[in-house]
Amino acid sequence: MPESKRLFFALEIPSPLQRKIIRWRADNFAPDAGRPIAAASLHLTLAFLGEVSAEKARALAELAGRIRQPGFTLTLDDAGHWPRSRVVWLGPRQPPRGLLQLANLLRAQAARSGCYQSPQPFHPHVTLLRHASHAVALPAPGFSWSLPVTEFTLFESVFERGRTRYIPLQRWPLGSFTRKDDDI
Ligand code: ATP
Ligand code: MG
Repeated sequence: MPESKRLFFALEIPSPLQRKIIRWRADNFAPDAGRPIAAASLHLTLAFLGEVSAEKARALAELAGRIRQPGFTLTLDDAGHWPRSRVVWLGPRQPPRGLLQLANLLRAQAARSGCYQSPQPFHPHVTLLRHASHAVALPAPGFSWSLPVTEFTLFESVFERGRTRYIPLQRWPLGSFTRKDDDI
């Protein structure tokens, strides 16, 4: 049987910002609010592909490489708690148009390639805490981090020894339309 991988497209959070966010999280959430996501795992999912064969992964990467879209600035200035998924998140109050376009395109390509896409609308977010099953006191508004988004990434999700790790497989640039040869 051909090897399959659990894949998703996402935006990476640069490590200095990952560190700032986890410091802010430690200062602003009760220790029992939920299980914190490790700094290096903070990301914003654009499109979830699920278990994908090597052949389909190649086809999806090829389609991703044809995307021509400008970069954009992402501002993370909102936080919330979704009790059903037990997730506490950080996200943009006003998602930039470029973010929505990129996610819609990747999700449409995934759907056309046979990757099931949830009918729920895209809610751009960075998961901060998992297993947040009780009411969570959210930080007072006023926090805000902005980052220039100049690329997007195909990740593999690997579950081993009781934890999930994300491995970046390939990156594509936004904004500059020359092919960046930085396959990992
Ligand atoms: P685990 O499921 O092992 O607890 P995880 O949810 O972080 O950890 P994955 O399930 O592999 O790992 O998901 C990878 C990324 O894709 C995460 O950002 C997750 O929220 C998102 N994701 C997972 N399933 C879906 C889905 N059906 N629709 C949209 N996004 C999804
Ligand atoms: Mg999951």
